[in-house]
Amino acid sequence: MFKALLLTKTDTPQPQAAITELDEARLPEGDVLVRVSHSTLNYKDALAITGKAPVVRTWPMVPGIDFAGSVLESSDLRYKKGDAVLLNGWGVGETHWGGLAQKARVRADWLVPLPTGMTAEQAMAIGTAGYTAMLCVMRLQEQGVTPEGGPVLVTGANGGVGSIAIAILARLGFTVHASTGRLNEAEHLKALGASELVDRATLNAPGKPLQKERWAAAVDSVGSHTLANVCASVRYGGVVAACGLAQGMDFPATVAPFILRGVTLAGVDSVMAPYARRVEAWRRLAAELPAALLAGNTTTIGLAEATEVAPRLLAGQVRGRVVVDVNR
Ligand code: NDP
Repeated sequence: MFKALLLTKTDTPQPQAAITELDEARLPEGDVLVRVSHSTLNYKDALAITGKAPVVRTWPMVPGIDFAGSVLESSDLRYKKGDAVLLNGWGVGETHWGGLAQKARVRADWLVPLPTGMTAEQAMAIGTAGYTAMLCVMRLQEQGVTPEGGPVLVTGANGGVGSIAIAILARLGFTVHASTGRLNEAEHLKALGASELVDRATLNAPGKPLQKERWAAAVDSVGSHTLANVCASVRYGGVVAACGLAQGMDFPATVAPFILRGVTLAGVDSVMAPYARRVEAWRRLAAELPAALLAGNTTTIGLAEATEVAPRLLAGQVRGRVVVDVNR
């Protein structure tokens, strides 16, 4: 038996969420059984738990789009009992039971070995949000963005993706500007590596198709008018890595920045990213993110607290990352 947060469909969009003792036999099919030690609460998990968006595709569901732990059983030659592993995405927590549980059974193809020197808790302090931040930074670098090119803007700065993107970029020597609705968190954002704060209210309303050229590049986890204004404010030849929709899924923009300034809009998806890219992102996260910064950016909760924290996360009231200790 093991404990899990189990979501059950109801007559309303909000599922019933309860900590439930489950028999291992109820776990879905897969070639690797993992003893989960830590999971996290991401934006998507909060959507699943609250029912604010139809993230869950099959019921009942154990949410949790990522987890870290050790292998208990494996019928795949790549993994053996005791191996430290982590998982992000692949529909886990959406169509396949996920990480907010003490055990998970998944396909070996979905797992990534825990990078050397990183603990399961540290991996989850990064989680899908931090791994996505690294994918965004990789996209910018692949497009030729360098620290010498000028400042890089990060939107949704106090969120999971934003906070880790700031830390990675600053560590790489970039000048980082942080767009936030929580200017009172200036000290925290500067400790992560932001040199200048931008009030998100200056970016989240309808704006002109082309605006003053301010940033060489951007990491955007917000979407909607913010993304449109960011594209309109990136310098000639600049690059915007777009990964999120915290403000909205819409993109009310014009083509002007793309055809008149040669701006590149680079989409970033973490869920289906190929194995080699994941391993490279995690290798870099282990090498480039100082553990002390991660600790200061993380709140740890127990499994039972996830339902209470989820609506606060969607309301933008949570700072940085939330790790779930599934045994607490
Ligand atoms: P968080 O909730 O941790 O952070 C989102 C941040 O966005 C908030 O902290 C807030 O930052 C800002 N924000 C919230 N609401 C608004 C608004 N209405 N207008 C402008 N800014 C707002 O979420 P994550 O960082 O984990 O995820 C961010 C987004 O990225 C989500 O949409 C998520 O679904 C997406 N995502 C996509 C992935 C992919 O594979 N493409 C993977 C991971 C996440 P502040 O208070 O500083 O303004």
